[in-house]
Amino acid sequence: MVRTEYYKDLTKMNTFGMKVKARCFIEYDSVADLVDIEFEELARPVLHIGGGSNLLFTDDFKGTVLHSKINFIEILEKEEPRHCEEQDDVVQSTKSLEQSERIPSPVLVSVGAGVVFDEFCDWAAKEGLWGVENLSYIPGEVGASAVQNIGAYGVEVKDVIRKVYCYDTVDEEFVNFDVEDLEYGYRDSAFKDPEVKGRYIVTHVVFALSREPQPRLDYAHLKEAVGDNVTPLQIRKTIIKIRKEKLPEPSVMGSAGSFFKNPVISAEHFARIEAAAKAEHGADVKVPHYDLPDGTVKIPAAWMIEQCGWKGKRSGGAAVYDKQPLVIVNYTGEAYPEEIIGLERRIIASVKSKFDIVLHPEVDHI
Ligand SMILES: Cc1cc2nc3c(=O)[nH]c(=O)nc-3n(C[C@H](O)[C@H](O)[C@H](O)COP(=O)(O)OP(=O)(O)OC[C@H]3O[C@@H](n4cnc5c(N)ncnc54)[C@H](O)[C@@H]3O)c2cc1C
Repeated sequence: MVRTEYYKDLTKMNTFGMKVKARCFIEYDSVADLVDIEFEELARPVLHIGGGSNLLFTDDFKGTVLHSKINFIEILEKEEPRHCEEQDDVVQSTKSLEQSERIPSPVLVSVGAGVVFDEFCDWAAKEGLWGVENLSYIPGEVGASAVQNIGAYGVEVKDVIRKVYCYDTVDEEFVNFDVEDLEYGYRDSAFKDPEVKGRYIVTHVVFALSREPQPRLDYAHLKEAVGDNVTPLQIRKTIIKIRKEKLPEPSVMGSAGSFFKNPVISAEHFARIEAAAKAEHGADVKVPHYDLPDGTVKIPAAWMIEQCGWKGKRSGGAAVYDKQPLVIVNYTGEAYPEEIIGLERRIIASVKSKFDIVLHPEVDHI
């Protein structure tokens, strides 16, 4: 079924809690419903949202907001054909997977785009299936997870995605993409390419999970925190506990998680920053960073924001979260978009002035 509402209040549909309306809001229940929507006729622009947890609405939305309620989780009985027309290859590749002792056969699970990602993680952990436990408690829905390439605790969702099924709103047909074709990178995918952004609506995603233990505990102190009982459920519980301590609960304090991307700079630039930090704080000071294989250096935006004195600072209804300076929060619950953007601009300016680095937002400004 397709439901249409006009001047829909989106306050509860974006985790920042921005009090905005959509001129037209369309929600649908099934894959087949998409065929009934006249995309050519929709008020423009068109935006498909999930849980609204990576968006900052800067004003009322003048076009059409779409939302999926495609809600199913289904274990597929056998390996999905990679290319529908190559059935023989499929049989062969299934056989070679079964014959191999090294590669455990995956359990393929098809999940509707409207399923809350954490409900899928909960289901998988209770089924004893490995693969998404480290991604527990990330807000948002399954459709967006495949667009965003969500990641946490050393795992990115691309590691377990096998195929993404979509509706192409331009050619008005159903299409699907193998994971290899989606150009996944850090919080990035082919769906974000400006040439096609918004064209494909994710309807469902096929994940390859595993019944064989595959714990990934090498991130920070996860191993000690999980203890000896290494099951997907225990890892999930531990991660939820850690996340609750570090990040604002969207139902309590609005945010969109990490507001800025971690910048990548040249080794020379990093050496200058390190020398300045030692001059300011003493020779023992450690500047957090990750050396990348191409010789560049990733430097945490949170560290720079804290160094600029922003941690816990308030500006009108907005604030920099006191436990994690990468997060801008709707501190009062009444913040205006302008207050969030004002704070964002001031942070960008001070990081530029102190470190000569321009921070870029991770959050989509709508
Ligand atoms: C407290 C908090 C913590 C967070 N922690 C993390 C974290 O640890 N790791 C991480 O990666 N992210 C994190 N995030 C960011 C956020 O949860 C993810 O980006 C998530 O994938 C967004 O999902 P959503 O359903 O809310 O999508 P939305 O924010 O509604 O949309 C995100 C993008 O996906 C597109 N989209 C949504 N649904 C569809 C669909 N069906 N078809 C096509 N396009 C679609 C939208 O157009 C938009 O471009 C956090 C956010 C918050 C608030």
